Amino acid sequence: MNRSIEEVILAEPRGFCAGVDRAIEIVERALAKFGAPIYVRHEIVHNTYVVNQLKSKGAIFIEELSDVPPGATLVFSAHGVSKAVQQEARDRGFDIFDATCPLVTKVHVEVAKLAKEGYEFIMIGHKGHPEVEGTMGQLSSGIHLVEDVEDVATVSPAQTEKLAVVTQTTLSVDDAAEIAAAVRARFPKVREPKQQDICYATQNRQDAVKIMSPQVDLVIVVGSPTSSNSNRLRELAERLGTESYMVDSADELKPEWFEGKGRIGLTAGASAPEVLVREVIERVRAFGAVSVRKMDGIEETIKFPLPKGLKLDDIPPPGHIS
Ligand code: SF4
Repeated sequence: MNRSIEEVILAEPRGFCAGVDRAIEIVERALAKFGAPIYVRHEIVHNTYVVNQLKSKGAIFIEELSDVPPGATLVFSAHGVSKAVQQEARDRGFDIFDATCPLVTKVHVEVAKLAKEGYEFIMIGHKGHPEVEGTMGQLSSGIHLVEDVEDVATVSPAQTEKLAVVTQTTLSVDDAAEIAAAVRARFPKVREPKQQDICYATQNRQDAVKIMSPQVDLVIVVGSPTSSNSNRLRELAERLGTESYMVDSADELKPEWFEGKGRIGLTAGASAPEVLVREVIERVRAFGAVSVRKMDGIEETIKFPLPKGLKLDDIPPPGHIS
């Protein structure tokens, strides 16, 4: 259809991270071990295809624990939950498997530890995102959300002697650094995490887009609208001056986006499976792309262990999503 497309450049790394892999495997193994239905609080990861695949295998996604019948098996999503949700789930007597990404749990542990030492917190994140609700919900008070530099000017902690910063794991690295600098300027004694809370997968995927964007005429990001890290990849490409679109599946690609574009960059958010990337490649080939080339990039080898009760049984998860 469009003869001008020379090649598709695939970002490295892209797609599933270790936390997403683990979360999906927890639901698949729970289904294999206990049978359907398995209840999952919130979308296990923010991807429409993944959620639909798991629904077809017997997972039921809910937002309110009151929608889960007594005695059911419940999985917490990769984004983590507040202390209140954890308590409610225990009180209701569910069999609980926690698919919270260990890198989110690490932030929760840090918040709890510093709160005991009398710290208040400034959290950099997006209001309403489940990870932010989970992290802020580790404390009943003393954690203040800032979404941008403007918010930093008005945030009002009760004291400033013991103040610490935490961030959502899937932010724009550059935006978070700018907001953290504004926090530092206003509260010079603020304690910052030794290692930033933005996770390796978010950082690596953004770094890859930074290298890829100047080499291409168009960047396609595979990811669902609810996926924070996928949205950040699209924004980043656009900020670097490259036209960019995010699609949930190949069906959303519009031929006119590719008119006159020679090189197409393709990446995927941390919750988007490779099968969707392959479908996008096939569609772009149909639009006229001649070749596909992988960018050089970091190889990610990180893997997180499964929770007790699911790891030793060696139940091969049927038809693992990849
Ligand atoms: S994006 Fe980062 S924090 Fe989120 S699940 Fe993946 S590794 Fe964990």
